[in-house]
Amino acid sequence: MSATPARRSLSAVTLLALLVLSGCATGPAHARRISAHQPTPSASSFAPSAPPSPSPSATPTPAPGSLDWYLSQVPTFPDAPPPQPVPLPPTTGSAPFWHRLPTDQKVAFITIDDGGLARPSDVADFVWRARIPVTMFLNSPAAEEHPEYFRQIQVAGGVVENHTINHTSLAGRSYDYQKREICGAADRLEALFGKRATLFRPPFGEHDSTTLKAAHDCGAKAVVHWTETVHEGKVRYQTPEKVVRPGDVLLMHFRPALMDDLLAALKAIHRAGLTPALLEDYVL
Ligand SMILES: [Zn+2]
Repeated sequence: MSATPARRSLSAVTLLALLVLSGCATGPAHARRISAHQPTPSASSFAPSAPPSPSPSATPTPAPGSLDWYLSQVPTFPDAPPPQPVPLPPTTGSAPFWHRLPTDQKVAFITIDDGGLARPSDVADFVWRARIPVTMFLNSPAAEEHPEYFRQIQVAGGVVENHTINHTSLAGRSYDYQKREICGAADRLEALFGKRATLFRPPFGEHDSTTLKAAHDCGAKAVVHWTETVHEGKVRYQTPEKVVRPGDVLLMHFRPALMDDLLAALKAIHRAGLTPALLEDYVL
């Protein structure tokens, strides 16, 4: 409940950020949705040098690899069900650890990790225009180096969560070490993005009971692993059925092929008869 006013004020801040960051003078953010299917200014600027089209009324096919092409490939999903937040276990001083979310609702979750390696330029627009719910588990130094990049994805609907400072394996390390890595990143990400991370993902998924305690003490409601990985446009399943199941969590990274990975995840979720949903709507 207490999150609502915070989210509202955050929206106002992030909307401002969008207007500032994108140099956008076209008005409220939702105006972009309305214009999603209109030709872009850059596309029409090519018209004078283009050869005469035999059928001027035909919709031009977007160039493969362009943002419009990715948008044209996104499947049409059934409406997501109203989220039923999952019950959190009674407080024991440790955050629960989940490979997938304990829900039967026909939803799956897209997560993007790290942030230091590559930041493809169209991701924020893709997330916004295709309305892709994404959770970003960021290393705080990458976020500090490129705050405007991740803020644009945040404005587009993405949520920033915690993936430590230094991306080292936490398993077997002292409580103090783990707490420094987790709370340190949480503090910096909160300062950058105006929201305390409520989810934590340990680097490489490697963790122990100390990790779950430190994550809890740093404000995490859950520690989230994954059930599928996506890399270079291919979904890799960890079960023989090779299908995304309700509550599954798909992991990809800020790498050069992130646009392909997002599209592959959407197609896999669609094939399974599910709809992408936002993790944070299920963990309150
Ligand atoms: Zn990572």
